[in-house]
Amino acid sequence: MAETLNSQQKETLIKFRDELRTEGIVGESDSWGTDDDCLIRFLRARKFNIKAAKTMFKKCSEWRRTIGGVGIDQLYTEIDPWDAKRKEVFKKWPIWFHKTDKKGRPINIQTLGEIDIPGLHKAVEPERHWHTIVVNQEALTREVIPCCTKRFGQSISGALCILDLKGFGLSQFWGMKGIARESLQLTQDYYPETMGQLLILNAPTSFTAIWSVIKTWIAKETADKIDILGSDYQEILLKHVDADNLPSSLGGNCKCEGGCEWSNAGPWLKGRQHRRKLLYTGDLVPARTETEYILKHQDFGEESTSSDEEFFDAKS
Ligand SMILES: [Zn+2]
Repeated sequence: MAETLNSQQKETLIKFRDELRTEGIVGESDSWGTDDDCLIRFLRARKFNIKAAKTMFKKCSEWRRTIGGVGIDQLYTEIDPWDAKRKEVFKKWPIWFHKTDKKGRPINIQTLGEIDIPGLHKAVEPERHWHTIVVNQEALTREVIPCCTKRFGQSISGALCILDLKGFGLSQFWGMKGIARESLQLTQDYYPETMGQLLILNAPTSFTAIWSVIKTWIAKETADKIDILGSDYQEILLKHVDADNLPSSLGGNCKCEGGCEWSNAGPWLKGRQHRRKLLYTGDLVPARTETEYILKHQDFGEESTSSDEEFFDAKS
């Protein structure tokens, strides 16, 4: 279900895929890089220059094999980005997926005002926290986006990211600066083109001024995807998201049982328990990864996107 490409881009995609195969960069049994949407993200990030995209892809491939000393597949099995244990981590560094926007893109919310680095590192080793951030990012391309693509029958390539700065102070900023930079690097290098749009809420006036300067330094395509909003963000936010899909804490109508930040509500919950079981038992072969399983085998039918079914253990 590759997104719309022009004929030249389509040819480039075919050539890129062939070269990755013939040069042994992607193998028949690989758990990643076998779907077109993934390859398109790398091509887009390098403006459809095959050589540059290949270099980027290889570097990413190497990282995936070695991250945490075990590789991403093993890490993803060991740490479930949505299980109950995440609570201790996410209370102090809240990142969560919640339903979809009007374009069918998953919504990713971060409330920076709640970030508590000293508390976080008391509860969890810094390395473990980093791995949690990694699997959370991995979940986006591995399960969240493919489920949205399948559910809405159109190619979804990125997420709508909401960064809420309410209550975010300078001391928190200094505490998280390093991890924030690494996270940005992680997205840029290994999960390119996954930010469809970024809305920054509750930005103080000073930030808006700084932003007008920063904006002149970054690529126009990136800057165009970012909106800096003050405390009067509501109207613009509701242009992107239906009120029913927006948590009440951000001015929407949604009040998921147990709290929107814990519900994980969205198409990705459909069949999740089953996929997780297949992952634990090693039965994803020949479907190989959740992504391929979702795209090839999972039936979304006219399913609602509510969180009620397949609630998994986020509540416990
Ligand atoms: Zn909700």
